[in-house]
Amino acid sequence: AWANVPMGPPDPILGVVEAFKKDTSDIKVNLSVGAYRDDSGKPRVLDCVRKAEDFIISQRLDKEYIPIIGLDSFNQAAIKFAYGENSAPLKENRIAVAQSLSGTGSLRVAASYIQRFMGSNTTILVPKPTWGNHLSVFHDAGLKTTDYRYLNKSTNSLDIQGFLSDIEAAPNGSVILLHGCAHNPTGVDPSPEQWKQIMEVSQRKKFVNFFDVAYQGFASGDPHKDAYSLRLFTDNNLPIILAQSFAKNMGLYGERIGAVSIVCNDVEEKNRVLSQMKILIRPLYSSPPISGARIAERIFNDPSLNKEWLTELKGMADRIIEMRSLLKSHLVNDFNSKLNWDHITSQIGMFCFTGMTPEQVVRLRDEFHIYLTSNGRISVAGVNSKNVRYIAESFHKVTQ
Ligand code: PMP
Repeated sequence: AWANVPMGPPDPILGVVEAFKKDTSDIKVNLSVGAYRDDSGKPRVLDCVRKAEDFIISQRLDKEYIPIIGLDSFNQAAIKFAYGENSAPLKENRIAVAQSLSGTGSLRVAASYIQRFMGSNTTILVPKPTWGNHLSVFHDAGLKTTDYRYLNKSTNSLDIQGFLSDIEAAPNGSVILLHGCAHNPTGVDPSPEQWKQIMEVSQRKKFVNFFDVAYQGFASGDPHKDAYSLRLFTDNNLPIILAQSFAKNMGLYGERIGAVSIVCNDVEEKNRVLSQMKILIRPLYSSPPISGARIAERIFNDPSLNKEWLTELKGMADRIIEMRSLLKSHLVNDFNSKLNWDHITSQIGMFCFTGMTPEQVVRLRDEFHIYLTSNGRISVAGVNSKNVRYIAESFHKVTQ
């Protein structure tokens, strides 16, 4: 039956992982995967997660289906975390929210909602570059995308003029995808002032603002700081759709826990929107999984676990920030690189856009056993106190 099905291309990031696994060298370094590693290069399960799990097991809970929109105690806590406890739409109970399958599932539910209620001709404005899966999710949901300029390649910083002029030229009423913090893959975020400029255009052009927030608290260590852009737009009453992921900030990757929310004008509108979110979710996956929601709910709602989490979260963010400055300092001070490496420390979040060319990426792999994606992006989580000097030395050798 499937004789005409062509072989699909491999996933670009998983391809790098496969090559890394085959490499038998002792000094090999994997800088491709977007998952946290501790200073010995191991995946990390947070202590607060272990404690929440122990508590949940001790309760001997049943495994009945949870509602189509997930656990209410999780949903309410998730939006409070994002929008802030003083947010007007939160206090006025006018945010429609559903637990969904991590960030990706939340993006997909939101995209299908946009397709159904704004129409198949809706175009989503996306930064160039953006996380590759954004394009696949939106296209599979039947939407079109167009790019706005984002990265200035010569400085590895934000092309704010290009950004503003491209969104200015887009039709009024467009949907714009915004990475709330820690832009993936570039690690380049607008400054607070630049966010205000972007908001001004969005407000004037009556855009629907579709925020993807996959790294809240993970970028700076402070969840409030990382929610700045979302809260700026929400507090100014711009239309908001939000996809949240707790993969990175709670280290719950495989639990697939996230939330999709839509800010509405009043409670009555919220009820209508929520009824339609249920109608969309039911045929997609019926209802979300229970385990991650229970864990996240405990971490949000148990004061002592919450405190412990915020400390552990800051610890992960701080380790990444420290590795950024060590990497730069080795390049500049130990190896006397004459290139400008300021972007390593000015970029934030898990990723750094090094500026390596595809040829340099190949040399790093073949001569130095260092694996990164061909766009020159590294996951700083793969850098640790043992390999940082070697990575700096290798970066210097291929860029000399
Ligand atoms: N959005 C962005 C920008 C991301 O980087 C990621 C994680 N790579 C996600 C969404 C969602 O990932 P997940 O589905 O694992 O939560």
